[in-house]
Amino acid sequence: MREIQMVDLKRQYEKIKGEVDSAIQEVIDSTTFIKGPAVKKLEADLAQYLDVNNVVACGNGTDALQVSMMALDLKPGDEVITTSFTFIATAEVIALLGLTPVLVDVKEDTFNVDPQAIRNAITPKTKAIVPVHLFGQCADMEAIMEIAKEHNLYVIEDACQAIGTEYIYKDGSRKMAGTIGDTGATSFFPSKNLGCYGDGGAIYTNNNELAQQLRVVVNHGMARRYYHDYVGVNSRLDSMQAAVLNVKLKYLDQYNANRRKAADYYDKAFENHPSLITPKRAEHSTHVFHQYTLITKNIDRDGLQEHLKGKGIANAVYYPVPLHMQKAYIDPRYKEGDFPVCEKLSKTVISLPMHTELDEEQLEFITSAVLEYCNK
Ligand SMILES: *Cc1c(COP(=O)(O)O)cnc(C)c1O
Repeated sequence: MREIQMVDLKRQYEKIKGEVDSAIQEVIDSTTFIKGPAVKKLEADLAQYLDVNNVVACGNGTDALQVSMMALDLKPGDEVITTSFTFIATAEVIALLGLTPVLVDVKEDTFNVDPQAIRNAITPKTKAIVPVHLFGQCADMEAIMEIAKEHNLYVIEDACQAIGTEYIYKDGSRKMAGTIGDTGATSFFPSKNLGCYGDGGAIYTNNNELAQQLRVVVNHGMARRYYHDYVGVNSRLDSMQAAVLNVKLKYLDQYNANRRKAADYYDKAFENHPSLITPKRAEHSTHVFHQYTLITKNIDRDGLQEHLKGKGIANAVYYPVPLHMQKAYIDPRYKEGDFPVCEKLSKTVISLPMHTELDEEQLEFITSAVLEYCNK
């Protein structure tokens, strides 16, 4: 068996090579490299796919979060609550803008922020909540929106890992991840569920006025050419990336279905195993499996990693260090032990290969290798 990667972008590309190559060539022929029709088409098609009023393309997912906070006019000293169990970008932009990141713990079964922990962290300085839809499943948005409403807080959804995920309300109605809060941020990093061939990102909002402000911020704070009313940034999605995304958006549902199929295979192989907890499928969300993440019990997680590596099976720990224990974010407000669930997860989770091209032979090889280690 040849090595199994976390993500196989090459086999995915080979299937759409004709379409992608000609879409890129079209951009080159037109020389509309920046703000070309491909970007406008992506914004319109993605807005339609998500059923949201506005999609504003930008340079990457980190910028999508930062620009959201800038457009919402969050000010130094404002407190922004987010989870300690996420990719660093979520807290990084809060810190960069001089806002105060307030970290809270997650629920062990879904890896997502615990609404009660958010409630406990609210102070008079709290201005916003940034729930992260980790690994492709929505945080408990109904509870979070209720807290936000009660305390008059903005909600910025970090939907970078959850494009195509649906939030399911108690009454059965559904909304796409990222379209519930004031804004939603997504990333088109190549390995994301909808990935381009470089960097890219987008912000979603149903608020048309806010969309206007987002467009001003991403474009140097400029509403009228060379008149700068705000301090903005330069954050653009270039037309070639948009052209790639326009091809891939058509396949997004199929891609997510392929991921779910692989997840089902993993679930079945590991169900009821005494050393492995399969990822919970929350009632309030569909799952697009950006990652397939197991919690290990009573086995040496790092040993399992080595065992898989020895068989040519890539694997990863998302995330090995919770944010409150990251060197750059060490803060007298927090100490080891403050967020026991995050800390436990960082020591026990393992993510297996997850992508659109996994076949049964590979899945059989991976699951056998995992079980071989766990059963010994
Ligand atoms: C990928 C990711 C980001 C950042 O996206 P980039 O495009 O890499 O800047 C932010 N938050 C989460 C949860 C992510 O997974």
